[in-house]
Amino acid sequence: MSLSEIQTRIATAESAAGRNPGSTRLIAVSKMQPDDKVEAVLRQGHRIFGENRVQEAAGKWPGFREKYDGIELHIIGPLQSNKLRQAMELAQAIHSLDRPKLAAGLARLAQETGACPDLFIQVNTGEEPQKAGVLPAETDAFVAECRGLDLPVIGLMCIPPVEEEPSLHFALLAKIAARNGLEGLSMGMSGDFETAIRLGATHVRVGSALFGARD
Ligand SMILES: *Cc1c(COP(=O)(O)O)cnc(C)c1O
Repeated sequence: MSLSEIQTRIATAESAAGRNPGSTRLIAVSKMQPDDKVEAVLRQGHRIFGENRVQEAAGKWPGFREKYDGIELHIIGPLQSNKLRQAMELAQAIHSLDRPKLAAGLARLAQETGACPDLFIQVNTGEEPQKAGVLPAETDAFVAECRGLDLPVIGLMCIPPVEEEPSLHFALLAKIAARNGLEGLSMGMSGDFETAIRLGATHVRVGSALFGARD
């Protein structure tokens, strides 16, 4: 699907939900996509991209940044402590803050460098053992812990279980965010971004619907 088709679907979903036009930001998830497809989207003027591996992002984005101004990069995948410094140098936002060790590492580097990307705390709304994220019942305490470290937490992120109705998970994430005074909601991917917008997503992460299937 073309960039403009995705943008039209986002606008239609915003309007159907009675939301302001442009209140949802499209993160084009470029992981494992060929450079020419990514560059085609850059040439159309899009500037917000998501990568789930720091290594891959570090290989790809410095080159694009030499050619295109204003690129905003979001790290959306699992983060290892030893990649934090590199992630902070590359990205304007990190969506996968999910444990105290990462929070401490981010706080230390933010102190040292005087800067920190916007942060989303990943919540494991489906309580799946294999999945990253803090449990819903532990999220309030973790938000407070991150705030105690002066981290710029702006929202929550989730990836619903594949076989479940995503709207329940989006609604849960929105509820936890609201009671913590967080405005950012990073939720919705290729198959369910319109549902996520209906439930208040501020950031949708769309990969395959925009670029085609990954290898
Ligand atoms: C890959 C990925 C996406 C995009 O998935 P699509 O189904 O291709 O849109 C979104 N969020 C995260 C965290 C991802 O890893």
